[in-house]
Amino acid sequence: MALCKNSLEKISAYVDRELSRSEAEALEAHLSACGLCRKVLRATRMEKDLLKHTYSPMKAPARLAKRIKADIREKSTTVGFYAYDISHDAYLIESLPQRPFDIVSASIQETAAFLSKFVGFPVHVPDLAYAGFGMKGGRLWHTVARISALIVYEDASGNAVSLFEIKKERVRRSGATEVVADNKSFYLGKAYGYNGVVWLQRDVAFGLVGGLPHDKLLEIARAAAANLEQ
Ligand SMILES: [Zn+2]
Repeated sequence: MALCKNSLEKISAYVDRELSRSEAEALEAHLSACGLCRKVLRATRMEKDLLKHTYSPMKAPARLAKRIKADIREKSTTVGFYAYDISHDAYLIESLPQRPFDIVSASIQETAAFLSKFVGFPVHVPDLAYAGFGMKGGRLWHTVARISALIVYEDASGNAVSLFEIKKERVRRSGATEVVADNKSFYLGKAYGYNGVVWLQRDVAFGLVGGLPHDKLLEIARAAAANLEQ
């Protein structure tokens, strides 16, 4: 893991071509052997690529729409893999050196509008205040080989949860333990000490993940789903 920590700290500079030749070569050698760091490289590239469009809004839609369509057409996935992958991602993001969120706003509408613009589908930002969680910020990411949005919340005790969103299209209901609550199916998964709860609602596959146990996460997921029904 010491090797990964070194590499994770350099990935952002690598994408920006700011590393020396020897640093880049050392990083590439690690990347060729490490799937975790390769995943962070892909997510970092995609995030930077999408954010570039902020400065060229006229060019963004056609190119972005084409890419998102291609992404979704090619990649069918399952709720089980999604629940696993977001748990894996929570671990990766926790391992990254502190990076600013792509958006920090107290406004649900502003956060939803910002993230929706980049991912190409309507991102829903539930209000989790009555579950005790406040919004910390939002990020663009890359999950199950698709563009995803994630919103990070925290409670008063410092427990953080992240809500991932991908388009529901071609997400099959298999590969995970199903729990039915409030007439809705929730799917459980875990990886690297993180737990995930996935559910399908509106046009979105939601995935809530954190270090909390599954029963607590399920409670928060139910609160989020109920809030989005309103
Ligand atoms: Zn690594």
